[in-house]
Formats: sequence, structure tokens, C-alpha cells
Amino acid sequence: MRSQAIVEFGSPLKELETPTPTPQGTEVLIKTANAGVCHSDVHIHDGYFDLGGGNKLPLGNLKLPHTLGHEIEGEVVAIGPDVKGVKVGARYAVYPWIGCGDCAPCLRNEENYCVKPRQLGCSSGIPGGYATHVLVPHQKYLLDYGKTSPALAAAYMCSGLTGFGAMKKVGHLAEGDEVVVLGCGGVGMMGIQFAKALFGKGPIAADIDDGRLEDAKKLVADTGGAYAIVDFVGSESSFAFANAITRNKGSKIIIVGLFGGAMAMPLPLYPLRALSIIGSFVGSLPEAQEMMEIVRAGKVDPIPFTTRPLAEAGQTLSDLRAGKITGRVVLTP
Ligand SMILES: [Zn+2]
Ligand SMILES: [Zn+2]
Repeated sequence: MRSQAIVEFGSPLKELETPTPTPQGTEVLIKTANAGVCHSDVHIHDGYFDLGGGNKLPLGNLKLPHTLGHEIEGEVVAIGPDVKGVKVGARYAVYPWIGCGDCAPCLRNEENYCVKPRQLGCSSGIPGGYATHVLVPHQKYLLDYGKTSPALAAAYMCSGLTGFGAMKKVGHLAEGDEVVVLGCGGVGMMGIQFAKALFGKGPIAADIDDGRLEDAKKLVADTGGAYAIVDFVGSESSFAFANAITRNKGSKIIIVGLFGGAMAMPLPLYPLRALSIIGSFVGSLPEAQEMMEIVRAGKVDPIPFTTRPLAEAGQTLSDLRAGKITGRVVLTP
């Protein structure tokens, strides 16, 4: 098999040729057809997350070489002896946020919060989709995407699930409860569509830099403030805005975006306002399954994407870093 791997943080990816693995036990070998390039791949390639103000969070324990890619779609080409009901030749999207299966978060079906994660393309020693083949530990991570475009099915595994997982944290809406979405980039747009599918009505959407913030403020004023704000920006100003438009009591601010910054708030305000501030990181396997039901039902509009050959993986990371890419780039190994 071939992969485009990180051999040194920040240096160009290198094509590696390694033996194609033979699936054991419950493992499934996927021949990658589509692998989305996500902005977090840029950070892993850099070797750190930028915390703003010149502060860096290093990814010190990622073993190199490492193959990126957590948005994967492909064809089953071999199965382990314990795999049942999955046929060679079938195509699936692959849930990448895989856990150890034994820890408390895994046991409560929140593998995406696992304490010993085995996330495809992200965790140390777990190669991802920038490769001709990917080994998946169990068939339960294979998701049916129906008639959806295979490239989009790949992209749903991160950007789609991030939008969906955030909307699920809103919970049940009563009549008159308003949800406000801040930030209408790719993930925010997906979040808006999933909100429509989950709540039967669209959220109030606002981009942080335009006059629609004022409109959003006016719209929620009628109901005494917003019940939930889903912040796909995650900056000091988006949080300040969210905080200003919440209803007096019992509202939620769900932070998804990683723009950065800090906030300080007097502690008594949390109980007095019964305020919940919730961080959201991708989604669980059951959430991914629920999301794919909505996707298969055709309730989500496609997002723009372009395809590139696997050999352009490194160039794509550079273009993404330089802000030269709109929509998703999906590699086709
Ligand atoms: Zn991602
Ligand atoms: Zn675990």
C-alpha cells in the first residue's frame, strides 16, 4: 500500500510504500476511495495547535511517520475471520473517532471522549485515509451512506458530525425556544441544516462580522432571549455576543469553533442564570448513525467540494494553511 505520510512536523509529506495489512479478528480492510482534508490535519502536520497570543499546544507524543486523514470513504477489500454481514466490494463511510472500548466514556457509547483514543489519522500509531488502504478495527464503524455522493459521505465523518453533534447538545425545544448559530462557514452551514432536520425549523443564523448580528439580537428579543447559542466561531467576541443574547435563565452556550481567546465571568452568574456552557467535539458513534439516517433521507444539501489525487495531499495542506481553499478538498487515492 501507498500513503502520504508526515515524516517530520512541518516538512513536506512523503510517499511511503508499506506492506498492505491483512485484517485479523474483527478488522476490516478498506481501499480508500475518498479522503477529506480537514483543517485540523494542518495543525497535526504543524505538530501543534495555535492557542493564540504566541502560545502553542504541542502534539508531542505523535509517533512519526504518521498518515493523516479522518474523513474516509471506501470499499471493503478484505475482512477478518470474525466479521459478519459485511461483504467484500461494499462501500462505506468510516467513523474515525474510535476509542479503546474499555474505558468509562467508551462504555457509555461516547468513544469520541475515550481516554485512550484510537482515532483514525489522528491518534499516534493509527494511520488514516491519506493512503490507498485503511485498517478499521470493527465493522460497527462502517456507515451506510445510501445515494449520497461518496466524497461527501467522507466529509460528513468530521465536518458533518461536528455540526450534528453540536446541534444534538441543544436538546429538546419548546415552542418559542430559539436556537442561534454563530459562524456560517462550512461546519456552521451543516449545523444549520441538521438543526432544520432535528427541530423542524431553521435556527437564527449570524456571521460574526455582518449586520445580521443585530438582526439576530432583535429576533431573539421577542422570546426573552435565545434558549441555545451554538458558536461555530469560538472567539472572544462571538462568546461575548452569545452571552449577551441568552435568555435570563436556563440557557445554553455550545462552543464548537476553535478560533481562540479567553473569557472570565463572575461565578455566581452561573447558578443565578442556570447557565450551561458546553464544549462540543465531533460526535459519538450513535450520533453518527443518527446523522447518516438524515443524510440518507436526502435532508442535507451537498456542500461544495473538489477532488485531487493522493499525491497532492501535501500541497492541499499548504493551500489550506494559506487560506486558498473554499469548500472541501477530497483526495482520491
Ligand atoms: Zn476534521
Ligand atoms: Zn475508551
